[in-house]
Amino acid sequence: MKNVLFLTLFTIFHVIGQKTPETPVNIILMIGDGMGLSQITAGMYSNGNKTALEEFEYVGLSKTHSSKNLVTDSAAGGTAIACGKKTLNGFLGMDLDNNKLSSILEICKSRGYATGLISTSSIVHATPASFYANVSSRRQYQDIALQLSENDVDYFIGGGKKHFQNREDDRNLISEMKDYEMVNSLNKFRQSTSNKLGFFTYYDEPPRINDGRKPKLNEALTATLEKLDQREKPFFLMVEGSQIDWGGHANEIDYITSEFKDFDGAISVAVNYVNLNPNTLLIVTADHETGGLAITLGKTNPYTFRSDFSTGGHSATMVPVFSYGACADKFSGIYENTAIFEKMLETVKGN
Ligand code: MG
Ligand code: ZN
Repeated sequence: MKNVLFLTLFTIFHVIGQKTPETPVNIILMIGDGMGLSQITAGMYSNGNKTALEEFEYVGLSKTHSSKNLVTDSAAGGTAIACGKKTLNGFLGMDLDNNKLSSILEICKSRGYATGLISTSSIVHATPASFYANVSSRRQYQDIALQLSENDVDYFIGGGKKHFQNREDDRNLISEMKDYEMVNSLNKFRQSTSNKLGFFTYYDEPPRINDGRKPKLNEALTATLEKLDQREKPFFLMVEGSQIDWGGHANEIDYITSEFKDFDGAISVAVNYVNLNPNTLLIVTADHETGGLAITLGKTNPYTFRSDFSTGGHSATMVPVFSYGACADKFSGIYENTAIFEKMLETVKGN
């Protein structure tokens, strides 16, 4: 009798300990801001005709237009992906009628997931802010900072400390964020045992990777995944390669390809994580293309090319969606950018 009981208990614990298909899916969403196919192509050839994106199993195309403009900005583009609603350019986490929207990060958090945001811009910039802020102008940096301080994202890494410390209302949001441990280096981030951890990489906007930006995105992602992996819960993590867009605005191909390379290094880290943790969905996409970039001439061996830009702004061209790991098959096909939110939500526990 004792033996039977022991065996039964052993079997139950054994089953619980295993990752069954019912185990909630971790989500890693990577957004290359302004990363259209030409940016990927340029980055790939600059890197000897290689990119981590070649590992991916499924590719889709996302229509990036905002509610009234074919050419979106990063606020409306981020909101579509984060919250599943097309809105006006400049709006963050708000629909056309000024209703506040819930983001996939907030929905995951309310269902017991751990959450994280990593950005190579300031953490209050439009793309990361679309996951926690509700404002009618992306320029309301002080309001956006206040909303991050009240949001409870478990781990964040990005620039823009000044919006939390040097404020018109004289508040010091960093000292108000008492649940958090704030660190000023990636080593301290790694060493911390806190479940609420913020790392302001720069006081203002971080510099270009070619001007020495630290940490590299692959290092920031590795450190954050180590934290998330230790939690006994599923997670949602957004990782942005922010400055691919800024290279597009500057019409500087080296700026684009170097920022793409930094982002591509982080994609490799994420792919490896999925290989070790198959219960993870990895999505890599863009909010829009920037620069109207084309590669118009070039040679192989070694790979060199000429690039031409058609605008200093964004373009309306569709952008690719690469997916890998659990539920990745959902993301093939052509769909609106808002469908990225819906497809992620389908994988979330409790739906
Ligand atoms: Mg951005
Ligand atoms: Zn832009």
